[in-house]
Amino acid sequence: MSARRAHVLIFGAVFAAAAVLAALGYLSLRRWEVAAERQLREQARDTAAMAAEKVEMAVVRAEQDGVAALQAAALEPGFGPESVEAWRARHPLFGAVYICDRHGQVLYPGRLSRDDALVIAALRAEISERLWERGGRRHLETGGRVILAAVIPGSPRGPLLVGLRRDEQALNREVLEKTLGGAEGKSALAVLDGDGRAVFTSRPLESAQPVLTVAFGEALPAWRVALYEPAGLSPRDMVRRQTMIFMAAFALLLCVIAAGLVVTYRLVQRESEVARLKSDFVANVSHDLKTPLSLIRMFAETLEMGRVPDESRRREYYGVLTRESERLSRLIDNVLDFSRIESGRQRYDIAPGPVEPVIHEVLESFRHPLHQQGFRLDVSIAPDLPDVPLDAEAVKQALANLLDNAMKYSGERRHIAVAARPEDNGVAVEVADEGIGIPVSERERIFEKFYRIGRSETQGRRGSGVGLALVKHIVEAHGGCVTVDAPPGGGSRFTLHLPT
Ligand code: ADP
Repeated sequence: MSARRAHVLIFGAVFAAAAVLAALGYLSLRRWEVAAERQLREQARDTAAMAAEKVEMAVVRAEQDGVAALQAAALEPGFGPESVEAWRARHPLFGAVYICDRHGQVLYPGRLSRDDALVIAALRAEISERLWERGGRRHLETGGRVILAAVIPGSPRGPLLVGLRRDEQALNREVLEKTLGGAEGKSALAVLDGDGRAVFTSRPLESAQPVLTVAFGEALPAWRVALYEPAGLSPRDMVRRQTMIFMAAFALLLCVIAAGLVVTYRLVQRESEVARLKSDFVANVSHDLKTPLSLIRMFAETLEMGRVPDESRRREYYGVLTRESERLSRLIDNVLDFSRIESGRQRYDIAPGPVEPVIHEVLESFRHPLHQQGFRLDVSIAPDLPDVPLDAEAVKQALANLLDNAMKYSGERRHIAVAARPEDNGVAVEVADEGIGIPVSERERIFEKFYRIGRSETQGRRGSGVGLALVKHIVEAHGGCVTVDAPPGGGSRFTLHLPT
């Protein structure tokens, strides 16, 4: 299987795993959402149910106390309407009181309205024989109102039937306010009557939303306790908000995973590209070294065999030997420097000095090959160049690489221009050719190590792809930079910017 296919498969598998994770995460989140909402609702129901129970218990206790006090009064010998009035003053919870004996004779109230007569008749109809005989009490609903009916035994007039109707305001004040008022927390409790009207609220409801209602027991039939939560704090809102936060965090996590995958994929691709470039590099360097070596060998052998009798010819051959060995050293220096840069061991000796001699020295070493290959060289060095801090050997190497490239990548038009001029805060040294040029899209990449533009363009031209990487490293070590553009007539122009 090719490495590329293996990469695609691995990344596909990781993506699939992330997708499954996302789907599972989504499903569990949904399930959690339902469970959490149910739990919050149950909590709310518990709160409301507890409130209802407390109110119910307080009502029943107040009624028990009231009936017990009335029973005590009824057993007194002088029991009559005055005693009932005195009792009412002490038990303001009861708005209306009805008392009659077993024969239906009404003891209280003294003056009976039509309504009162109807209530008493309804009460009597509901009271069973057993209740008359054993005493006891129960809640009855007549005319839409709840009345506590109690049979009090043992009075001198035999068992008495007592009907007590609660006064709503007193109930509010005496029971609801005391049991539900001052509740803590953000939620509000309300007591709703049979028509859903709030007869009591533990705090102003304002924009609060009803969450749920719970019924009271038989003391307050048809009435309910409602729990209100401020807007945005209802169980559903809270769960939704949590879900949104989880979802956002989860989405972020997935994005990070996806971004990580993309970055890793790119890195892996890049690494394999670098590995490929490295193996090309080895082949190219070997090839590069071979050319001057075979020339040296050929000329040396010719000389050795004494086949060159002509003195000027011999001098020419010696010249070739010198130049080719210089070129060989340059190539080897390039590779050695590059390896020092790679391992972080490269050091530069930077001291202020003039640029002009450096340029001349490089041009001198290229004079012969340029001439021999039919290059026309234009040199223009401004007279007022300032000194710049430089490592002369390194800058020479950079310039030599640029000149070497200018020669390598020139076609028919063999013209090279070298110029040096002062600029804003330094010196700019240019090497321009009229050769094959560099596409704009490649102008950044050519400075990367091992990078060579598309094989067809560099085909046939020796090179290892580290020359420009070295140039870049050298100028950057001088605090400057190298740029490339195209001169108007075509070709390429490299500029070294060396700051003062
Ligand atoms: P090489 O050893 O291949 O010349 P370099 O690092 O010196 O390596 O250059 C990188 C690539 O940049 C070259 O392979 C070539 O494609 C391109 N290049 C460099 N200089 C020039 C130039 N003067 N004209 C056109 N292309 C160039």
